[in-house]
Amino acid sequence: MDAVSIEQFTVGEGRLVCEIRLAPSAPRVTSPDLIMRLEGPFPHLAHHACVNEEGATFGAVMDHTSLPHLLEHLVIDLQVREAQRDDDAFAGTTDWIDQEAGTARIQVSFTDDLAALRAFRDAVRFLNDAIVIP
Ligand SMILES: [Zn+2]
Repeated sequence: MDAVSIEQFTVGEGRLVCEIRLAPSAPRVTSPDLIMRLEGPFPHLAHHACVNEEGATFGAVMDHTSLPHLLEHLVIDLQVREAQRDDDAFAGTTDWIDQEAGTARIQVSFTDDLAALRAFRDAVRFLNDAIVIP
């Protein structure tokens, strides 16, 4: 069973909204273990600009933040790579719809809608490969 599944995409003006659902047994927050498995394919993750309560970069919170927040940054990372631009060029927000149910809404800006959709699908695949659930 996959830890994360995509429920719905909505393409808006310059931004993509994605609703995801976590499996009942999937973790709701990240862990140092999980980040360790993702640092290989995503070496720049810690340096992303990020609005959080502990620092100016995603590195300040990435090993103890919500799983959907991590997914947001994986999506941005893949978009940055494809567009070969600064991560500042792509902004995102993440909100739980229902944390207990494991549903969340992730919004990211994009310059190319198809690239953004691809980034989402690839990011979910990376995350599902990195999460071990019973
Ligand atoms: Zn962030």
